[in-house]
Amino acid sequence: MPLLEDTVGVEDLVLLEPLEEKSLLENLQLRYENKEIYTYIGNVIISVNPYQQLPIYGPEFIAKYQNYTFYELKPHIYALANMAYQSLRDQDRDQCIVITGESGSGKTEASKLVMSYVAAVCGKGEQVNLVKEQLLQSNPVLEAFGNAKTIRNNNSSRFGKYMDIEFDFKGAPLGGVITNYLLEKSRVVKQLQGERNFHIFYQLLAGADAQLLKALKLEQDISCYTYLNPEVSRIGGMDDASNFRAVQRAMTVIGFSEEEIRQVLEVTALVLKLGNVEMTDEFQANGIPASGIRNGKGIQEIGEMVGLNSEELERALCSRTMETAKEKVVTVLNVIQAQYARDALAKNIYNRLFNWIVNRINESIKVGTGEKKKVMGVLDIYGFEILEDNSFEQFVINYCNEKLQQVFIELTLKEEQEEYKREGIAWTKVDYFDNGIICNLIEHNQRGILAMLDEECLRPGVVSDSTFLAKLNQLFSKHSHYESKVTQNAQRQYDHTMGLSCFRICHYAGKVTYNVAGFIDKNNDLLFRDLSQVMWKARHPLLHSLFPEGNPKEASLKRPPTAGAQFKSSVAILMKNLYSKNPNYIRCIKPNENQQRGQFSSELVVVQTRYLGLLENVRVRRAGYAFRQGYKPFLERYRLLSPCTWPYWNGGDREGVEKVLGELSISSEELAYGKTKLFIKSPKTLFYLEEKRHLR
Ligand code: ATP
Ligand code: MG
Repeated sequence: MPLLEDTVGVEDLVLLEPLEEKSLLENLQLRYENKEIYTYIGNVIISVNPYQQLPIYGPEFIAKYQNYTFYELKPHIYALANMAYQSLRDQDRDQCIVITGESGSGKTEASKLVMSYVAAVCGKGEQVNLVKEQLLQSNPVLEAFGNAKTIRNNNSSRFGKYMDIEFDFKGAPLGGVITNYLLEKSRVVKQLQGERNFHIFYQLLAGADAQLLKALKLEQDISCYTYLNPEVSRIGGMDDASNFRAVQRAMTVIGFSEEEIRQVLEVTALVLKLGNVEMTDEFQANGIPASGIRNGKGIQEIGEMVGLNSEELERALCSRTMETAKEKVVTVLNVIQAQYARDALAKNIYNRLFNWIVNRINESIKVGTGEKKKVMGVLDIYGFEILEDNSFEQFVINYCNEKLQQVFIELTLKEEQEEYKREGIAWTKVDYFDNGIICNLIEHNQRGILAMLDEECLRPGVVSDSTFLAKLNQLFSKHSHYESKVTQNAQRQYDHTMGLSCFRICHYAGKVTYNVAGFIDKNNDLLFRDLSQVMWKARHPLLHSLFPEGNPKEASLKRPPTAGAQFKSSVAILMKNLYSKNPNYIRCIKPNENQQRGQFSSELVVVQTRYLGLLENVRVRRAGYAFRQGYKPFLERYRLLSPCTWPYWNGGDREGVEKVLGELSISSEELAYGKTKLFIKSPKTLFYLEEKRHLR
């Protein structure tokens, strides 16, 4: 009988005594050391990465969790997935599962556990199984192209992912839609020491047979490629060659044709080969330094593979055409500029290829618009980042987390209070920090930091990262969540940790100092037109399709939205999406920096519990009621506990519930009768009811 299983520490932090940071950490540690990696805060689940395969997954456990309600078994992702799925299927409530945590904390693994659970319980039949397979097989494909080894995680997702899984009215899967956020494309051309490029490059070199390598004009040796860090070619426990075959199989299952797979691999190979195009100094007759290409063979091969005139490609890489209304002026680039152009092109091609793959998967799994759908969204997105050097990427990632925290606050906390109000139940007000002010500082349409950055990017005249910073300093000098050297000096604060080219934001999760170097460039995200035009001319159908703006007929002078603006609008869509659904949270925690089983570093964990606002979460949960349920389902479940309601009951649902509970010795403080629902303060009472039920 599950309820009598020994528990280690408390399974729900709502039951923690005394409630403080120290006891919260000790409880997580005690449980972790006993291989209990999951702990609840009400219906939020905390997951501490075990870094080992625990025997708690698979069909047997899925079957177990399928047959019990949330609090009946040990905390588990399956319990959350089960609750979300049942509520979607039986109560027609769209769900979202928001998974957050820092790099290496286990988000992606958690999202796969949710998906595999749902796939296992949601309907049968040939067609349904195909849909399930397609949805599940999207993971290895996206991981091959979007994940990489970093210092923190051997399989780190370098993009954010949101996936809507769509179901029919009976709860059988129909398909889905994947949205991706901000691939870390800088990795294509450069990796930190100890890190790798995206997995697919290594998979391709290790897994392709001689014939394919020849067709792609590739050498198998990793050290042949400038874009691949030779120092880390392999990852322990990861077999690139067999993963390559798995990725090809997965693409086939999803519905990629052989031809499409070939073209994807060709574009991947093209990126590698582009990295080897070496620029060299040449001088024009008038002595101006200019660039040329040293190794003509490489560019020739690229030209042959994708159907491009290699001279044109060389010209596009080494010069730039400026068009004014009256004339065209061609400037030659020096070596540094030409290398920059080459790398920009490689990053662009890869990023567009990744987007294309996501779209292609979506095409296969998309559901007709006419059908009425129930939706479960799963969000696996980078957590809050504070690195030694924080740049534009951290800025937008942390902005996204700030927004997610806002959803969390608004949906969980406000909704909680409002529900009590609606149900006519007394509520002791809990104060919490509303981070709207920080969101506003970043995203305000006219006066936010992103708007200022766009304004600087679009402004004619001399703009630079420092003119951008000066603008921020002027505008936000009095803002309570903004700091910089200038604002500090004005207040006679002398802080050596703050550089002159930095600004700092006091995020809900802590202060982060951002260096503005590169903000303008990264936000502009422009590819010179010479390059997009030459790519568009490629006879290679996929490569050609990735650069529609290279078509001279399409070339408008209107510039595309900036990276910041694009990110902001995709975050807005995401938020709207999450707000329309019932949220479920998985909060992932990384227990140590070494990717080692059994190690629990309190110093490391405490920082994360603060980012995640766990203590606050428990406080709110405890001030209210841990469990609530409509009278009807509650009565259905527990009416067998009273002879008044079992086996027959003809009265109203609420009266029935009152009858059942009236006969048990439960303190009146534990219960509150709302207009439509019963509220129970602590899960203990629920355990007690469950125990009674099982003893019957
Ligand atoms: P990133 O933000 O870098 O993508 P992440 O939060 O998605 O990180 P994962 O890739 O899910 O982290 O997890 C990192 C590694 O930790 C996994 O490759 C796996 O080895 C291990 N891991 C995570 N969760 C589990 C689990 N439940 N059981 C066993 N191992 C796990
Ligand atoms: Mg991940």
